[in-house]
Amino acid sequence: MKYKEKYYQLHRTEMIENSKNHYRDYKQKHRQYTKKCQRKLKKWVVDKLGRKCARCGLISEFDCVYDLHHTKDSKAEKWRTSYLRFRFFVKWRKENNIPKGVFLLCSNCHRIIHMTKIE
Ligand SMILES: [Zn+2]
Repeated sequence: MKYKEKYYQLHRTEMIENSKNHYRDYKQKHRQYTKKCQRKLKKWVVDKLGRKCARCGLISEFDCVYDLHHTKDSKAEKWRTSYLRFRFFVKWRKENNIPKGVFLLCSNCHRIIHMTKIE
């Protein structure tokens, strides 16, 4: 029997346990890292769009207050999932440009606009 196989047989449970722990830690770290990246990108987008609600003029230091609204003719139309949205953010950051038709709104105004269906 090869040394590797022997080693595995002797330390099987330990090795499985180790890889489980490693995966769990990695998952947690990965999640934290993605969150950090997404927050950074959101901050960039909010700052780039003037950090002010386009409807009511609300100014806030908190990025979570703001939503992005886009008109139907804007190129950012297909951002149904948060993953796709962040792909757009990455692209805009790279090009240092946000396409026309994307507006910064506070979440209240965003809801009101969608309820009344005014663009
Ligand atoms: Zn507003």
